[in-house]
Amino acid sequence: MPFQATDYDPYDFANRRHIGPSPAEMEGMFRTLDVPDLDTLVDETVPAAIRQERPLDLGPPLTERTLLWELRQIADRNVVAQSMIGQGFHGTVTPPAIQRNILENPAWYTAYTPYQPEISQGRLEALLNFQTMICDLTGLEVANASLLDEATAAAEAVTMAQRLAKSKARAVFVDEGCHPQNIEVIRTRCAPLGIEVIVDAPEALDPAAVFAAIFQYPGTHGTVRDFAPEIAALHENNALGVVIADPLALTLLREPGAMGADIAVGSTQRFGVPMGYGGPHAAYMACRDQMKRAMPGRIVGVSKDARGNKAYRLSLQTREQHIRREKATSNVCTAQALLAVMAGFYAVFHGPAGLKAIAQRIHLKTARIADALGRAGYAVGPAGFFDTLTIECGALREVIFSAAADRGINLRRVGPTRIGLSLDETTRDETLESLLQAFGVDDLPADAPHGLPEDLLRTSDYLTHPVFHMNRAETEMMRYMRRLADRDLALDRAMIPLGSCTMKLNAAAEMAAITWPEFAEMHPFAPADQAQGYTDLIDDLSDRLCRITGFDAMSMQPNSGAQGEYAGLLAIRSWHSSRGDEGRDVCLIPVNAHGTNPASAQMAGMKVVAVKCTERGDIDLADFRAKAEAAGGSLAACMITYPSTHGVFEEGIAEACEITHAHGGQVYFDGANLNAMVGLVKPGEIGADVSHLNLHKTFCIPHGGGGPGMGPIGVKAHLASHLPGRGSGSVSGAPFGSASILPISWAYCRLMGGEGLTQATRIAILNANYIAERLEGAYRVLYRGTKGRVAHECILDMRPFQDSAGITVDDIAKRLMDNGFHAPTMSFPVAGTLMVEPTESETRAELDRFCDAMLSIREEIRAIEEGRSDRDANPLKLAPHTVEDLVGDWERPYSRETGCFPAGSFRVDKYWPPVNRVDNVFGDRNLICTCPPMEDYAEAAE
Ligand SMILES: *Cc1c(COP(=O)(O)O)cnc(C)c1O
Repeated sequence: MPFQATDYDPYDFANRRHIGPSPAEMEGMFRTLDVPDLDTLVDETVPAAIRQERPLDLGPPLTERTLLWELRQIADRNVVAQSMIGQGFHGTVTPPAIQRNILENPAWYTAYTPYQPEISQGRLEALLNFQTMICDLTGLEVANASLLDEATAAAEAVTMAQRLAKSKARAVFVDEGCHPQNIEVIRTRCAPLGIEVIVDAPEALDPAAVFAAIFQYPGTHGTVRDFAPEIAALHENNALGVVIADPLALTLLREPGAMGADIAVGSTQRFGVPMGYGGPHAAYMACRDQMKRAMPGRIVGVSKDARGNKAYRLSLQTREQHIRREKATSNVCTAQALLAVMAGFYAVFHGPAGLKAIAQRIHLKTARIADALGRAGYAVGPAGFFDTLTIECGALREVIFSAAADRGINLRRVGPTRIGLSLDETTRDETLESLLQAFGVDDLPADAPHGLPEDLLRTSDYLTHPVFHMNRAETEMMRYMRRLADRDLALDRAMIPLGSCTMKLNAAAEMAAITWPEFAEMHPFAPADQAQGYTDLIDDLSDRLCRITGFDAMSMQPNSGAQGEYAGLLAIRSWHSSRGDEGRDVCLIPVNAHGTNPASAQMAGMKVVAVKCTERGDIDLADFRAKAEAAGGSLAACMITYPSTHGVFEEGIAEACEITHAHGGQVYFDGANLNAMVGLVKPGEIGADVSHLNLHKTFCIPHGGGGPGMGPIGVKAHLASHLPGRGSGSVSGAPFGSASILPISWAYCRLMGGEGLTQATRIAILNANYIAERLEGAYRVLYRGTKGRVAHECILDMRPFQDSAGITVDDIAKRLMDNGFHAPTMSFPVAGTLMVEPTESETRAELDRFCDAMLSIREEIRAIEEGRSDRDANPLKLAPHTVEDLVGDWERPYSRETGCFPAGSFRVDKYWPPVNRVDNVFGDRNLICTCPPMEDYAEAAE
């Protein structure tokens, strides 16, 4: 045979990576769906009226090699200096074992939020370690499993304090020593709620005038002082005390709990999570036990499983917004699970002695600098400090500032003449010498007296639990991380068909750059000329997202979809008031909306008016019109999810937008379902004024077991000047939110090109319709478009089985674990249903494995219906099955084989849930949200 070049392109996007079904598999799927080709299916699914006119032009797809080369060019335009800016962001050393085994390990980063506890025991344990660490360090009783960032955590603490305080004052006091971004985000949060913000020195606090006060510890300019007297005075006036505390400083300093604080919040960034130009990092919140039910975010608790074994689960108000909707007090949904896991492991890795030694080293370096500068005649403050100093430089300030910059050191300007500097774990002696040179000082003393206030030295123990005292051989650490990962079912094992949550591939090439130092080690307030790479990347990504969505401007500030909703509504508010239209506060939200929508509207100071849905799941346009008319001049906005949460491209969308605009309102699109639209429909062209994009859904940022995420918002031109940080206040502590994960979404857009992105959408629609077709008959598929097609997800009705067989949606979800799957979204938007979203990433083989599992479950239900299987002792009711079921006593009417190895489960690669069904009621009744003592493990299970 002579040499013959084939036309097979090994780097073709369509053959590789994001598109699951092979061309041959697609052909078979077309036959199942009885369509000649993909175009026909898409035409039947997406109404012509809303289709974008021109194909998405984002340039050709890049190969991975070219992509990584381009990212390298961008990275090289970021200059990583030694940051001494501080202000809540610090250099840190990510232990390589944590970087490789967690941050870069798909078993950890591709997991979903642990709503299904039986298949999430590993990350639940890791998050429980995080909570235990936070409780210990803050000296408070209950901690949650992370919030978005320190600034939003501070704002959450303020509103939580308002709900809990007996004081009826309408003002909150904010210590002027708080980091500026914390003050800014608190102001943003308080404005629409009518809370007055008083910013002043703690000495000026009038405890009778406020419902709470919030202090920073250490302060932004380094001050370490005791807030116990202020907090005591607050308590006397029925007000609460909140402390924003640096957890590393708490290894040396008296804990907020011991000062009487009711709530503590802060950032765990410096526990091994790179600064990343602002994020992502995990914020924490801790409070007194009696306040736990008012705490936002998720709390991991300890419960027991059906065999009485210890099992972890999310407790209490796990999905508070979904239950309380417009009465919800917080919209936090996606938080920072992966980063909390990292921070928790940092503490496991170092233990209390290690953390304390790190803090002491940082402090002694700071003390040596204070000593050297003081001897040289500088006025150095504050008197009591941990890692941050403020130096009076007079007329020399700019000279010193640039001399430091020339030596690769970033300092902070404080007022007109002072310089601020913060040291961290990464500061070397050579850097200290360069720093002193910039001040014209030669001698770096080898030692210096410490600068911590004697009466604030910490006297209590922390991190006493055995998990923080493991053998620290890396072998042991590595195996612990592996053991926990193995308990969980993440995308690296099986499809996670979560409707609305879009669990798609997070390709390795897309993930590569996030740990490059040029992206990871940038301080968010580094001088702009050092962050050119980030600026270029963010501008280019914003431009691409604008072209995809039909919007004119983007804000990259929101750290989650829910934060995006909030930011978008604030932009709408700001726009209305810029036109003198102050009275508009009604927000129309269909009843099938995601719970974060009404929660965000409430936070934005809007009144939620619910709009009905029709039998078919569409917005009831008559009701919509009536409610809009009733609101009249008070109509601020409507919030619409498109395609609808029922998984359908509603044809009435244009009308809903028209009605809203006719009454002077603005249209907010919940963009969580953009994976059904990219390349086919542009929200900005069909009536939306603003929309968030969940980059952790459609644009490949991994879900991380419940975060990180990014929820940038796109707006039409008229709202551009009302985006966060422009017309409306900041919604995050950093200007570009969690900037360091943006390279993932940028890489996805570049790898796919416009055509590839559009193909992904089309295949997402194909995969969903294929599942709907295969399961129809066995299950009822609720809601289809006018031509009988579903969009990128479908809803399966499980309600009939309650009567026919006593089987609930929960039983089916748990049984799917035996089949080797994560359950679809349960009971949203319709109670008693499963919403399945396969995404384009899944191969036909995996779709078939899932369908086979669902069909075999249907047969198991039928056996109960027909009396061939017991109504209680059946494989559904007793799911999931564990190894204990394989080896222990067995007195059930079905076989172990049936129980443990149903359709879809593998023999060799079988996934074993580590626990049997978890007892929810027990867990809420006996809330334990720190690691239970070892000896209690057996007891907790009784
Ligand atoms: C995921 C989702 C949200 C919230 O996004 P988070 O990033 O979790 O805050 C809002 N609406 C819908 C429809 C969603 O699916």
